Amino acid sequence: MSQAPQADTPEVVRYETRGSVAIVRMNRPRYRNAQNSKMTYALDAAFTRAVDDDTVKVIVLAGNGDHFSAGHDIGTPERDIDQSFERKAVIWWDHVGATGVDARFARESEVYLGMCRRWREIPKPMIAMVHGACIAGGLMLAWVCDFILASDDAFFADPVVKMGIPGVEYFAHPWVTNPRAAKEMLYTGDRMTAERARELGMVNHVYPRAELEAKVLAMADRIAGMPRLGLALAKKAVNQAEDLQGLRTGMDSVFGLHHAAHAHNAEIQGDSLGGVDIRSITDTESPS
Ligand code: ZN
Repeated sequence: MSQAPQADTPEVVRYETRGSVAIVRMNRPRYRNAQNSKMTYALDAAFTRAVDDDTVKVIVLAGNGDHFSAGHDIGTPERDIDQSFERKAVIWWDHVGATGVDARFARESEVYLGMCRRWREIPKPMIAMVHGACIAGGLMLAWVCDFILASDDAFFADPVVKMGIPGVEYFAHPWVTNPRAAKEMLYTGDRMTAERARELGMVNHVYPRAELEAKVLAMADRIAGMPRLGLALAKKAVNQAEDLQGLRTGMDSVFGLHHAAHAHNAEIQGDSLGGVDIRSITDTESPS
């Protein structure tokens, strides 16, 4: 068991092991774990470490503090969209120094859509342990995991239609819920309770907040007893079934619409996010 973050794992993400379970914890609690690129690459490093460690059988993704994730960092002092990182997800040129769609498409292909797809392919079971807010970009992180186990105070929302954008970059809404629920989620931007998300099939189980971590670790321990290759192949089998249901190609088609919306905002308002700040995007309606 090791609790201390390692030198090669930046502090924005904490890595620990409990027996055969690795817990990867987002660690920007002051900003409700808003995801900047530094965190994105720290998550990637932590996941890679867990995959490379033969003693790790199951990976849990969690958030430190009061919330799982408030989404992409669109306004903290450590917002780092103007920085280069070692690209891992796609072979494309760097977004830094590019302009307009050239810059946005390069960056979002790498750090959002590409990274999420990369993490969905991680060959070990992944459990999202969600409490508090799971908003917009936070959904993407939960959705790439195999299970979502949530506390009863968790809530889910994708309010980016307020920006004139048809959903986050990893557009899984119709597949992880259903088409009508996806439309309601997008059209209203409202918060969805954990219980409602469970009814729709997006969340596996809901537990009282105080019991969440123990329940997640108990589930992880049960899974850890299964053969590694069997789990990896079962994961691939279900992921392939989702892709046959159009997940991958659907997501590609919507990524184009997403970038049309960014470009429209930039053309009309001079801001690809449509002038929406972090407060108005996270101040969604009460759970429903
Ligand atoms: Zn975007």
